[in-house]
Amino acid sequence: MKLLVINCGSSTVKYQLLEMPAGDVLAKGNVERIGEEVGILKHKTADGKKVEITDEVFPTHEAGLKRVFDLLLDGTIKSLDEIKAVGHRVVHGGEKLTKTCLVDQSIIDEIERVYPLDPLHVPAHVIGLKVAQKLLPGVPNVTVFDTSFHQTIPEYAYLYAIPYSLYTDEHIRRYGAHGTSHQFVANRLAKILGKDVKDLNIISCHLGSGSSITAIQGGKSIDTSMGLTPLEGLCMGTRCGDIDPAVLTYLGRTKGMNADELDNLINKKSGLLGLSGISNDCRVLEDGVAEGKPEAIRAMNVFNYRIVKYIGAYAMVLGHVDAIIFTAGIGENSPYVRAEVCKKLGLLGVDIDLEANDCHGKERKISTDKSKVQVWIIPTNEELAIAQQTYDLVNK
Ligand code: AMP
Repeated sequence: MKLLVINCGSSTVKYQLLEMPAGDVLAKGNVERIGEEVGILKHKTADGKKVEITDEVFPTHEAGLKRVFDLLLDGTIKSLDEIKAVGHRVVHGGEKLTKTCLVDQSIIDEIERVYPLDPLHVPAHVIGLKVAQKLLPGVPNVTVFDTSFHQTIPEYAYLYAIPYSLYTDEHIRRYGAHGTSHQFVANRLAKILGKDVKDLNIISCHLGSGSSITAIQGGKSIDTSMGLTPLEGLCMGTRCGDIDPAVLTYLGRTKGMNADELDNLINKKSGLLGLSGISNDCRVLEDGVAEGKPEAIRAMNVFNYRIVKYIGAYAMVLGHVDAIIFTAGIGENSPYVRAEVCKKLGLLGVDIDLEANDCHGKERKISTDKSKVQVWIIPTNEELAIAQQTYDLVNK
């Protein structure tokens, strides 16, 4: 059964066509710069064919996706009828959309109510949904929410210590993000270890351009570092993570910055980029650290320290830790970050094998046999996770 997985951003569409339940990727790619003067479309197929379009305009998501369908029809599938379902990544489901859903109008209406919680991502996901409904009439659409996995977080961990009415009336609480990824890597590790995920306590570190850490007890999220939005917690590429909220009121009063300017500051100008003034890319900063550049060292020190701090906190929350997982762009590819973090985890009895750690994007254990906590690199695969959940739902 062929399934299409779509992840729509405001000017992008990432997609994969998979054969399920095997999980084989038949084609994948992304459309960028939708609505701009010139777009980019990169497309790859399982048999090694690569297409890169850089001279066409994609005025809308619909135009971009239509072009993707042309490419799929050029050798990967014979007819669009072969696509039996579409799985959509949705970053935020709010309080009501707690599970993977088969989409009907009531689900779209509910997702639209979530807009204020994530105006950056969620409206783009709805555009993707509507385009898929239009271009593939009659094909079921399924939404997989990044927040669903965190619905098991207890009240004392998801509430902010602000007037309770702001939770009941405005739904302000911790929702978390990257749930599909945290759940995927935790289940994958359980499979590798031949154990039931219910018997494992895991700290999962999803470190990419956006980063979050989750405490997973028996396969359930019991706390996570991202909050109402994907801004809280770790130091990220351009997001500030944890900050004293008074910094914002202070800047509002002293610099006259308004909500949009502050939003831009903490989402786009902060994190590794803001601290270093050089780059938001961990690779560039790692080179800077190697060259002894103080601004790169400063930024990476903050980045690594926050990870250690959250792992320490979640170790206490879990009471016992079986494994720590590193995943996503930085978690999978940076021996430097993993080593810097793990060398501070002596209190947990973490001991890593530096030779095993010296790798990129490989699924492997990097802790030694004497380590009290296993440390693993598990490459995440959110598209496969979405395809699996979509497949399960449409075949129920
Ligand atoms: P993601 O958001 O998961 O795609 O991660 C993207 C980030 O991963 C990039 O911004 C880089 O900072 C980081 N990254 C990718 N490759 C490497 C690498 N070899 N070493 C360190 N960081 C990397």
